[in-house]
Amino acid sequence: MRTYAKMSATYAPTLKEDPVEAELASHKLLLRAGMIRRASAGLYSYLPLAWRSIRKIEQVIREEMEAIGAQEMLVPMVVPGEMWQESGRWDVYGPELLRMQDRHERDLVMGPTHEETFTDLVKNELRSYKQLPVTLYQIQDKFRDEIRPRFGLMRGREFIMKDAYSFDADVEGMQKTYDEQKAAYARICERCGLRALPVVADSGQIGGDTSVEFMALADAGEAALVYCDCGFAADTEAARASIAVEEGPGDVCERIETPCEGSIASLAEFMGMSERACRKSLAIIAEDGTPVLCLLPGDHELCEVKAEHAFGHYDVMSDEQMETYGLVKGYMGPIGADERVRVVADVSLRESKRWLIGANESGWHIQGACPGVDFKVDEWLDLAEAKEGDACPKCGAPLKAARGIEVSQVFQLGTKYSEAMGATFMDVNGKEKPFQMGCYGIGVSRTLQAVVEQSHDEQGIVWPVCVAPYEVAVVPLSVGDKDVWPVAEQVCDELAKKGVEVIVDDRKERAGVKFADADLMGFPYQVVLGRRGVKNGVAEVKDRKTGERQEIALDEVAAWLAERVMAERL
Ligand code: ATP
Ligand code: MG
Repeated sequence: MRTYAKMSATYAPTLKEDPVEAELASHKLLLRAGMIRRASAGLYSYLPLAWRSIRKIEQVIREEMEAIGAQEMLVPMVVPGEMWQESGRWDVYGPELLRMQDRHERDLVMGPTHEETFTDLVKNELRSYKQLPVTLYQIQDKFRDEIRPRFGLMRGREFIMKDAYSFDADVEGMQKTYDEQKAAYARICERCGLRALPVVADSGQIGGDTSVEFMALADAGEAALVYCDCGFAADTEAARASIAVEEGPGDVCERIETPCEGSIASLAEFMGMSERACRKSLAIIAEDGTPVLCLLPGDHELCEVKAEHAFGHYDVMSDEQMETYGLVKGYMGPIGADERVRVVADVSLRESKRWLIGANESGWHIQGACPGVDFKVDEWLDLAEAKEGDACPKCGAPLKAARGIEVSQVFQLGTKYSEAMGATFMDVNGKEKPFQMGCYGIGVSRTLQAVVEQSHDEQGIVWPVCVAPYEVAVVPLSVGDKDVWPVAEQVCDELAKKGVEVIVDDRKERAGVKFADADLMGFPYQVVLGRRGVKNGVAEVKDRKTGERQEIALDEVAAWLAERVMAERL
């Protein structure tokens, strides 16, 4: 039995140049280190080194799931279309859902997630409250025909996901299961070496923590976040931050000439005031056809997600529509607009009495306009996208901004699927009731790349020990040397006996090539064995993270490394 791996026998085709297909550092490095290969858009193969890391991430997940009583299993990747029709998602899930037909022309879908499959699975078998709660999970490839697959494993079409589904008898039970999953997810992030924040997600419901996303902090992340030292963190799309209001100029409502470009920035400059003291107007057509004018603090954007909750699938007004409704582009405002226009203002402006708004005439604004007196506001809504500096809704301190990669999400589903699919059980009083469900997903392959995105340098990947493909690389400088090679083998043997995962670079390559590859592949510790060192009875150990090198006696090096490695395994 071999106890350690040999580089010469490891399929890890490295690349010297940055691959042109990759933008993100993590994507480039995984390709360059010979860990992944692209088969087609959004379809990747995991090569042996990456696969070892993937299995470690999965192992962490398995341990944490077992600790809270979730049971692993596996359902088919392909799901009968009827299940999706039953749940109602057949009609609402967009083209991301890969639909196909078999030879009998039966509809099938390639599972992007499996609420239907699991609900269907338990619906005739879990019959009594006495059998609850039950949480089932699997680790399996999912398929989503993403419109823009990109960034390698970050947004693939086929990707590895751990997905869990919980079935409880009542809301309190579901809440408890959800809290346990959430806590496990935090531990999983930590044990994989990720710096991640639990972030309140937009779950389409009002208030309450019914869904949390775990965001690995990274500048390259697709999600914009706001967070606070008090523990609050939210997607800018879901955050309800408080925005301190700034009043506009003028004590009386009057028209003023503003010969500046029709943008908030130029208006603020012309008036010599902050953008926030101006009011931004945006004209849209709500899903039901209503023309709507949205008024916001000038320095904030309309949050698309909040606007969709309020107006459905809305469109920005065309120039012709603006003309129809008496709105003048760049100088829009509620005064002088057509009566049919519904005026909706951000809730942060509710106490404000002096507004600087467009006059619906090119080159003119109105200052000192007072809502309720000079114009009517039909509705006050939370519409602004939160941003850095807004007040934390929990403690009031200024929020900070960050970007994140969504690695996982926990979600309270309630009875959405159980009701639609008739999945019921008998409660204590003998009454049929739908299950209270939760679902919990982790992007396993995305997690792998998120770790690399957070942990790399100019030379390559810097794996945290917990998910490194190998923990130690032994690098003998002259493989053919009759004094050095036996020592390398012995060090490998000793390390392996102590349970350390070792790879030895037994290739007849120059020292420079071996060092570069070890750095690129990112093994946490490198043991360099040269002729002189061996003669003096020492090895040089390099810590990949800090770059520190130290000489350790050959007869102590295995114990020395084993101690460090074990301490860093979380
Ligand atoms: P996103 O908003 O990034 O598209 P999502 O919210 O649609 O993701 P979920 O349905 O919550 O994704 O899936 C659970 C997890 O699966 C996500 O947290 C993410 O880590 C992972 N995931 C989702 N889509 C992809 C993808 N296209 N490629 C890789 N991982 C993905
Ligand atoms: Mg999600």
